[in-house]
Amino acid sequence: MSSRLVAVAVALAVVVLALTAQTGQDWLDAYRTPAQRLIAESQASDFAWQRLAELTDTYGPRLSGSENLERAIDWAVAEMKKDGLENVRKEPVLVPKWVRGRESLDLVEPARQPLPMLGLGNSVGTPASGIEGDVVVVRDFDELTARAADVKGRIVLFNAVFTNYGQTVVYRTTGPSRAASLGAVAVLVRSIGPTGLRTPHTGSTVYDEKAPRIPAAAISAEDADRFQRLQARGTRIRVRLSMEARFEPDAQSYNVVAELRGRELPNEIVLVGGHFDSWDVGVGASDDGGGCVVTWEAARLMLKLGLRPRRTVRVVLFTNEENGLRGGNAYRDTHMAELASHVMLLESDGGVFDPAGFGFTGPDGARRTVTSIAGLLKNLGASTVRAAGGGADIGPAAQAGKIPTMSHDVAGDYFLVHHTQADTMARITPKQMSDNAAAIAVVAYIVADLPWRLGAEK
Ligand SMILES: [Zn+2]
Repeated sequence: MSSRLVAVAVALAVVVLALTAQTGQDWLDAYRTPAQRLIAESQASDFAWQRLAELTDTYGPRLSGSENLERAIDWAVAEMKKDGLENVRKEPVLVPKWVRGRESLDLVEPARQPLPMLGLGNSVGTPASGIEGDVVVVRDFDELTARAADVKGRIVLFNAVFTNYGQTVVYRTTGPSRAASLGAVAVLVRSIGPTGLRTPHTGSTVYDEKAPRIPAAAISAEDADRFQRLQARGTRIRVRLSMEARFEPDAQSYNVVAELRGRELPNEIVLVGGHFDSWDVGVGASDDGGGCVVTWEAARLMLKLGLRPRRTVRVVLFTNEENGLRGGNAYRDTHMAELASHVMLLESDGGVFDPAGFGFTGPDGARRTVTSIAGLLKNLGASTVRAAGGGADIGPAAQAGKIPTMSHDVAGDYFLVHHTQADTMARITPKQMSDNAAAIAVVAYIVADLPWRLGAEK
């Protein structure tokens, strides 16, 4: 045989071997020991929890455009270099700068009382003297339409009881413009979250170009229920809303990128990460400092144990997820030429509570592989792979490059603290940080090390 034919024959044999290995689970046996080592190393210390505590204690909340966020980014870069991660760098992203300013909501009738509130992200402010008006309470958009004649010149409260995030968040995102199109002068939204300790939840609103931009704020579930009862009794509800909220010019921010370079196929990339920005309340521990630290920790654990996979594991801490998604879009644009070399993207942005497994979106063969890998995580409670999974920040790159995506799933009270002053370290235990970092480390390591490229299964 010519040397060329020999090369072809060898290549074919390698492919056949790899495909044979996939059909059985022999390939998985080779990963049992590395998986156990990653789990044991992670569980042996509270390193990840301490790192998240240092981040959130020192830099606090990290809203896009804030000095806090940029100082935290510089800290992360320095820490990643100290860890020994490779190609640590900042990739520039211009981000919107929304500033909350001072804000208040006062009940005027039937009794005078200041109420806990949080202006919605991206909201416009009120005139300096505030907006005083009567409140119309509606439970949903149908009731808004039915009461269209009552809305003009009034303040609308959307009192939709939290079922799940997807179903109720629409009142926060689209409610203000829908009420404005009927002549409302401001909007209040029952917080998107379960009833807690009278805690308002902020989050983005999205104005419709066709409607006037009116100020919008969240109130607690408890106060929304009180307003509903007052209205049912025919009692006049009057409030004064004051908000200094405004946009300032876009600010310079960065995605943080660090790598554990692959030992054989360094140009092929398995990406793990979360978003480093947060809302300006609480300290962004669950959303999403924890997701950033556990994905970063996955790479650090591999490095510490000398487990360098065939392909590169790339950690990305995205900027500006909360009120712009500019970090996720910039990653897609900056890396357009190498998207085809991205094997899989995993995002952790559901908080760090008890591990529950992963979600996966991609080809069926790849799903079988990922499900087999997750089978090694039974003791962590992380062996379930749901029908779909991804994340806001990895979405743009995944769409543009048709790349398989995974979410990191957890079981806990995420939406109790989501976007509130209560998003702090108090809700996260060291064990939860260690267990989740271990689960992500095992999945990322094995996917990056597989004898075949994830997605090449039959
Ligand atoms: Zn988030």
